[in-house]
Amino acid sequence: MTGARAKRSSGSEAGVELIAVPLGELQANAYLAIAGADVVVVDPGSEGEALAAALSERGLELKAVWLTHAHFDHVGGLAALRRSAPGVPVRMHHADEPLLKAAAAAAARWGVRIEQPPTDYVAIAHGETVTAGAIRAVALHTPGHAPGHLAFHFPDVGAVLSGDALFKGSIGRTDLPLGDHDQLIASIRRELLSLPQATLVYPGHGGPTTIGAEACGNPFL
Ligand SMILES: [Zn+2]
Ligand SMILES: [Zn+2]
Repeated sequence: MTGARAKRSSGSEAGVELIAVPLGELQANAYLAIAGADVVVVDPGSEGEALAAALSERGLELKAVWLTHAHFDHVGGLAALRRSAPGVPVRMHHADEPLLKAAAAAAARWGVRIEQPPTDYVAIAHGETVTAGAIRAVALHTPGHAPGHLAFHFPDVGAVLSGDALFKGSIGRTDLPLGDHDQLIASIRRELLSLPQATLVYPGHGGPTTIGAEACGNPFL
């Protein structure tokens, strides 16, 4: 797994550590949220078997898979990861179900081959505190890049996984099916820029930033 060597960024307060693992051709960041021996994988974009192997090497027990959204570069490793832990729940917003069902077909249009992920999941509602083992985060519905896009806020860590809504110096594209630029800007302002300025932002692609840095310096906002 290329990403295991390239891991970076962590916040370790309150017993939860967040580790970025860039995966696949589009270098989408999977994130491991680790507390003790419990781990949640957020956005297993590819290399699901290698991810599963890395977890077991570290003695970690997969408690859940959470998806910020169901674009193929964030779910390409889901099928294989799920095979390694069949009972583990996949959690996402229901509005991304059409994207999840069409993930392999969408990848093929980009010349990328992924294994079609299983389509069963447990829905997450806006504002819900999602928990898995000792890991908990507040889910923020942030549509625009994708209709069911979620950010996961870890208030105790002071960090948010912003998916493909907000990047360092950029925002998510909205020219894909079901994208909506105005909705994305409104989502970012309402749900993300309202977080404490010092909040660390771990995006779906690229390196980390903070809410304060993006509120001041992001040219798209
Ligand atoms: Zn995306
Ligand atoms: Zn992406």
